[in-house]
Amino acid sequence: MDYIYDDQNIFAKILRGELPCNKVHETEHSLAFADIAPKAPHHVLVIPKGPYVSYDHFARAASEAEILDYTRAVGEGIAKLGVGPGDGGNGYRVISNSGSDGVQEVPHLHVHILAGRNIGPLVVNQP
Ligand code: 5GP
Repeated sequence: MDYIYDDQNIFAKILRGELPCNKVHETEHSLAFADIAPKAPHHVLVIPKGPYVSYDHFARAASEAEILDYTRAVGEGIAKLGVGPGDGGNGYRVISNSGSDGVQEVPHLHVHILAGRNIGPLVVNQP
């Protein structure tokens, strides 16, 4: 494993309190906050507090406590939006972009929770 984490990325600055965010949920190892440029009526980002570049980095290197905390934090973020089928909601999409092919803009692991309308096809372009 050879992941290089840039601690000057925007989400690292949010975690250090150097930039503001609209917090949705916070736990020991995770933070959920509103996306600054929402692509849907509900657009929440969930990040681990640890220095992980991408989903695969986190899944391979994080502790079990971090992985459990993060998984629950994503669930709590969805629950707070009230969009889960178990809460009578119409659903949501969770996605995580990684690297250049994944079109990742911020190199700190985040999942997007998108909800509040039909989110449309998974990808627009064909293979
Ligand atoms: P990516 O393309 O890396 O998957 O998504 C990065 C997301 O971070 C984008 O949806 C973008 O709008 C969001 N974003 C970029 N800068 C900021 C910021 O300073 N604050 C917040 N809350 N979101 C940001």
